[in-house]
Amino acid sequence: MRFLPVFLDLQAGPVLLVGAGDLARAKLRLLAAAGARVRWHATDGHHDVSGLLPADAAQIELADGDPLTADLTGVIAILCAGAGALGAAMSARAKAVGIPVNVMDDVAHSTFIFPAIVDRGDVVVAVGTGGSSPVVARRVRERIEAALPARIGDLAGFIGRWRKQIHHRIPEFPLRRRFWERVVDGPIGALVLAGRAEEAEAALRDIADASAFAGAQDSGKAEGRVTLVGAGPGDPDLLTVKALRALQDADVVFYDELVSPEVLDRARRDASRVPVGRRVGKPGIGQDAINRLMIEAAKSGQRAVRLKGGDPFVFGRGGEEIEALRQAGVAYSVIPGITAGLGASAQFEVPLTFRHEALRITFLTAHKARDAETVDWSTLTDEKMTVVVYMGMTAAPSVRAGLLAAGRSPQTPVGVFARVSRPDAQAAVGTLDRLPDLIEQIDGGPAILIIGDVVAHSAPWRHSNLNQVISELLDAAE
Ligand code: SAH
Repeated sequence: MRFLPVFLDLQAGPVLLVGAGDLARAKLRLLAAAGARVRWHATDGHHDVSGLLPADAAQIELADGDPLTADLTGVIAILCAGAGALGAAMSARAKAVGIPVNVMDDVAHSTFIFPAIVDRGDVVVAVGTGGSSPVVARRVRERIEAALPARIGDLAGFIGRWRKQIHHRIPEFPLRRRFWERVVDGPIGALVLAGRAEEAEAALRDIADASAFAGAQDSGKAEGRVTLVGAGPGDPDLLTVKALRALQDADVVFYDELVSPEVLDRARRDASRVPVGRRVGKPGIGQDAINRLMIEAAKSGQRAVRLKGGDPFVFGRGGEEIEALRQAGVAYSVIPGITAGLGASAQFEVPLTFRHEALRITFLTAHKARDAETVDWSTLTDEKMTVVVYMGMTAAPSVRAGLLAAGRSPQTPVGVFARVSRPDAQAAVGTLDRLPDLIEQIDGGPAILIIGDVVAHSAPWRHSNLNQVISELLDAAE
């Protein structure tokens, strides 16, 4: 992000506009409609305000003289539109005195840029693309326009009018936030959005016990809870809608080492983020400590999210965690995530089942050679079974030995899929006898192994065969 979106207080002072023609007039319209006081230096000496509403035109002060020497005291921003070469000179002057400046279509000379704007009264959404593509910004704006209820600005205004009073009635911040969430998400919010503001006012006035409305417990505190959330394999767009909502509502997020920064980024800005997994080379804080942290957070009235890679209940110790929460009498719920095996299957086009070819799936873990020894490989002899191995990189030789000893063909297709759904995802495919070589081809984990005939349908397998055919043809041609 090069440009930080902020909102400028238009009451703090005038905006200086330098320029002429249609470009300048378009900016005049935008600024005047937003309520800005505008001081306009018309570079062609022609102060033509045609096409502006009289009320908007009244906000414009027509300035004479050279803008490069004009008094800038109190000016909150400078804008050059249709100003020609004067734009760069004006930009230099603005930068020298530290006033934000925008030169239209010239990011190099601008210290701020104009976003595409969705304007719903008190609710304003600004969409930027770092100045690179206004067209993309406008498309995003259209989608937001379509998604936002028409009266969302009224809702913000309604809350604004009551804010102070509720602040006095509920001094505790988490509880107050919950109060407003219940207003916004419940019947009162619906009334405002339906244009029935008076009924909404009456309903809010009728709330006798604001804390109870917010769901306070006997202690007077908000009710805390823990939500185990599956973060998926890394791509934040693979989060479920429920997972996203839980992240947006969280006061605190306890996350594992497998959770990608992009997923963590979707949590509420103000939520505290606490790493509890193993870090590179360092052990984690341990399961007991994690359980303790979650319980303490919930008991202090916080909404805690326990964010785990993939799905919480697939090799994720989620089962143990909810047992601890249950024992502590803490409210909890579980939101599933896309487990690494399913993420790999979708990304690399490995159908885990296939008519007549693969009728069963086994998910197993083989973290260390020792784990691999405890696996009963004899249950995995069925050729029509797809085997998905978690944490199997180090134990790959034992996985191969076990499956071969169980009678699986050395020619069984296998795939090693690393960093699934992340920008640097990688695949290596081959046959079971070559499994350890395939692991060698991978530049680091996490990686998942998929073993079975279905891997021959995968995209990397088809590509590698195609490459082979091409190189054979080339050999033949030589
Ligand atoms: N609960 C997780 C699994 C945790 S066990 C889930 O449902 O996915 C950790 C193992 O998961 C890793 O060793 C690796 O085998 C696999 N894994 C997790 N994320 C992965 C990813 N993005 N790509 C490939 N494998 C992944």
